[in-house]
Amino acid sequence: MSSNPDSKRSPLGRRIHLDTATPLKISATARHTCRMCASGCRNYDIMLTEAEVRRLSLNIWRPLLHEVPETLPLVLFDNVTGQHLLNKVEGRCVFLDSDDLCIIHKSSGAEDKPVACQFFPLHAIGSPAGIHISLNTGCRRLVEMTDQDDPLSPADATRLLAQVEAITTIPDVMPLTPEQMIPYTEFVDWQNRLRDILTVPDANYWPRMQAAAELLLTIPGDSAPLEWTSLFAALHKLIGGLHPERPSAAVLFARTQRWLPALLTNPVPPEIPFAYGPFYAAIAGQYLEGHQAALHRTARTGWVALLAALVAGIGGTVHLMSNSPDATINIPHTLNNTLSDALELFFAPAGQLALTEPNQDAFLRGLLKS
Ligand code: SF4
Repeated sequence: MSSNPDSKRSPLGRRIHLDTATPLKISATARHTCRMCASGCRNYDIMLTEAEVRRLSLNIWRPLLHEVPETLPLVLFDNVTGQHLLNKVEGRCVFLDSDDLCIIHKSSGAEDKPVACQFFPLHAIGSPAGIHISLNTGCRRLVEMTDQDDPLSPADATRLLAQVEAITTIPDVMPLTPEQMIPYTEFVDWQNRLRDILTVPDANYWPRMQAAAELLLTIPGDSAPLEWTSLFAALHKLIGGLHPERPSAAVLFARTQRWLPALLTNPVPPEIPFAYGPFYAAIAGQYLEGHQAALHRTARTGWVALLAALVAGIGGTVHLMSNSPDATINIPHTLNNTLSDALELFFAPAGQLALTEPNQDAFLRGLLKS
């Protein structure tokens, strides 16, 4: 499952053939649980292996499908990524049934689903030290994960990875900024320092994000006289001018328009009426342990994206709560959805364009002073 159509062209991580003899680094809190909310079947483009393309393009599936036009291809080829993916109808995977369950899973078994679906909500990134497996921060039910959920066993990880053809992999040397290359060991050192700040589950998490901003500002940046809202303003403008071909991107853009404009005037709500620190600490831990900054243009871009998404999660949720027509809004789910959407936006090309170096610096300085 890919949340980042352009990841194979990222200078930080490139998709390369998977060597399954590589050591596995499974995050201790990565749970291999699916709440069957079907969000992944709507929000993601499911990339397929060649064997899956052959098997899932067959017309033998058609009698089982729910309201999929006869002429609609089940599998598409994406010119941007050079990969095949499952098609969608009105934002839903062609194999998603009317009861929100997977038709392949129901009729043929879980192990016949695309490996991307079997792997979800986990996420794998290769590095010189091994393959890092963490929770996909795009999952909409991370907020419900507890110690009661099953962790991924090394045997399951090995079985699933054996079906994967290529994986985004960090090289020995990578860009910290556009001007500065660093060895992998230094990248890990930065990540560990951020992890030590951001994985403490304080109920008031804001000072943790400010301490992280202070650390990132020690990396030489590009300090232009911009407002800290300029990052969100640039993102909003870019989204407004784009008409994505991919249905998943169009749905994401439409959904984020419900809260993104609110961040242009006031990214920090005056009062944050819910405890979110433990959830944020868990998300930051998965993102950093999983090396998910590798999906961005530079390492600092990835870390700023994490902080910006955390800010957007709070600001967006408070905005949605205050505009909810009734009191039935599920706050933890809304926070999870908003944060996951914000991270998706920053993984997407529009997010990468908005994360210019001056915008990054202005955002970090604004967060520090807020
Ligand atoms: S193949 Fe099944 S599990 Fe995968 S996205 Fe489609 S409906 Fe969901």
